[in-house]
Amino acid sequence: MSEHRSSEHPSAGTGPVLSLRGIRKSFGDTEVLRGIDLDIDKHEVVALIGASGSGKSTLLRTANLLEPIDDGQVFLGGTDVSDPRVKLDAVRARIGVVFQHYNLFPHLSVLDNVTLASRAVQRTSKARAEQRGLELLAQVGLADKAREFPDRLSGGQQQRVAIVRAIATDPELLLLDEITSALDPELVGEVLELVRTLAEGGSTILMATHEMAFARDVAHRVVFLDGGQIVEQGPSQQILKHPVQDRTREFLTRFT
Ligand code: ADP
Ligand code: MG
Repeated sequence: MSEHRSSEHPSAGTGPVLSLRGIRKSFGDTEVLRGIDLDIDKHEVVALIGASGSGKSTLLRTANLLEPIDDGQVFLGGTDVSDPRVKLDAVRARIGVVFQHYNLFPHLSVLDNVTLASRAVQRTSKARAEQRGLELLAQVGLADKAREFPDRLSGGQQQRVAIVRAIATDPELLLLDEITSALDPELVGEVLELVRTLAEGGSTILMATHEMAFARDVAHRVVFLDGGQIVEQGPSQQILKHPVQDRTREFLTRFT
């Protein structure tokens, strides 16, 4: 732990949406995150790339405080949310998360899945939450699925619902963890298109992805993670086309 833990980031309010500072995380003897410093600015779309096991999911989970960290700090909107006094539920309500595997509640309708968080966490009335949920579902072409249960939907539709659920609370930050990796190839496009729409609409997004073409076209910045460290980062085109580090180059050759 760092000796000095101020609860306010120096640039509170005007600074990055998310700041990770010196994040370290081990599982047993294995250090999985080895000092991660990363800022995500408002409206920025950042693609996190790296081999399987490089620590992408763990990094995203620490950003959402799903994974307790061994050292470092997580700032959300300038506030140190890794401070043990901070209420985790309140922090998580400010972050939308979508994982690789569909994480819809199977026993709830699509609309109930979408409105659950805003009703539980934000205490929005059922009528208002449903109105907003239906609007969002309509925007992604899934209005007619509102009353269905998730297992009646295709994988692509389920991931689009998971995204709608993540944005229903108007989060400051979206964390997307390989959200197309488990999909049949023909369903990947519709999910990526939705992410592109969110990106163009100004959402702040940190996404782990193996979709390099998408990262190149949609992400503002690419961050390459290897062995729990950020090896290289920069504008997407630059990193994906002209990486400087050998490890980045080696990783990228597997995708071309
Ligand atoms: P990525 O998402 O880039 O594939 P992960 O963050 O899932 O990488 O995993 C990084 C490393 O941490 C891997 O070696 C993985 O086996 C290990 N790991 C992840 N989660 C756990 C856990 N809950 N317990 C033990 N080891 C874990
Ligand atoms: Mg992962």
